Amino acid sequence: MPKYSQPQDDALYLEPADLQGSLGLALKVDRVLFHERTQYQDLHILQCGPLGRVLLLDGIIQTTEMDEAGYHEMLVHVPLLTHPAPSRVLIIGGGDGGTLREVLKHPTVQRVDMCEIDGGVVEAAKRYFPGLATGFSDPRLNLTIGDGVAFVREAAQPYDAILIDSSDPDGPAEGLFGQAFYQSVKKALAPGGVGAALAESYYLYQDLIRDTFAVLEGIFPYACYYTAQVPTYNSGLIGFALMTTSAYPLSPPDPMRVHELIPLRYYTEAAHRAAFALPRPALELLPPRIAQMQENIFATGRGGLAGLADL
Ligand code: SAM
Repeated sequence: MPKYSQPQDDALYLEPADLQGSLGLALKVDRVLFHERTQYQDLHILQCGPLGRVLLLDGIIQTTEMDEAGYHEMLVHVPLLTHPAPSRVLIIGGGDGGTLREVLKHPTVQRVDMCEIDGGVVEAAKRYFPGLATGFSDPRLNLTIGDGVAFVREAAQPYDAILIDSSDPDGPAEGLFGQAFYQSVKKALAPGGVGAALAESYYLYQDLIRDTFAVLEGIFPYACYYTAQVPTYNSGLIGFALMTTSAYPLSPPDPMRVHELIPLRYYTEAAHRAAFALPRPALELLPPRIAQMQENIFATGRGGLAGLADL
């Protein structure tokens, strides 16, 4: 677990740096609103000027009110709009409530199972992040406080979509990355089901992304990497893995369904499509078949996305 100094009122807070300590983020803290050492992690809620409230877990920025929409809207709407009509959805992690809020916007969603390991995060979110925690009182929600690894492995009924909104791959979230876990995700998906998971920044986690997609390519017919801009995540961007059991992952979203999701603060149909158009440092981390598929996304003469089906 990276070392960090406790955040203080009216002081700069330095998040543990990545890239062997050479690149890190600094936050100007107005006030430490809340601090609790939970059973699993060190939890801080900070007030930070234009960033609004900030959730730290083990010193790492999880969510800020200023830019959380970029992360939550892309983690949720890209996979759910790739599925024709998602009804049963599973969220692993996501204790701040942002992912749940976005899932509940989809009119086809009848039931949401959510498994978050740390009840302390959910309670802190309800108290300090009212704009994120709106979904915890929704009757469609079935919340379990427990380990997501076991929950997916023992899933009784299949899901149309499984969303992995975890913290970084160490500490309690370590088991949410890797072959065994992704195999259990595949097993828990219904035919035509889709999955999406935190897959980190291609500037900071090259080995993890390379290993993840090498594993995913052996488990799912389609697994693609896509990104979103989140200024308060180190390197300013975050990556996701979209996994599908059959649905073609790069089909353009249905504008009518997008319209049903308002209010949206980040997601657009163009941002959805562009999120799969990757620069070389990212493409080079992906298995050749996936890299070629994503490199050809806007290939002329193939009708953009639709033409990729014949690859
Ligand atoms: N957006 C954030 C990021 O990219 O780092 C993630 C935010 S969300 C708060 C992460 C949640 O995953 C935390 O609430 C954490 O407690 C939860 N979590 C970590 N390991 C878990 C596990 N094994 N099972 C279920 N939830 C887990």
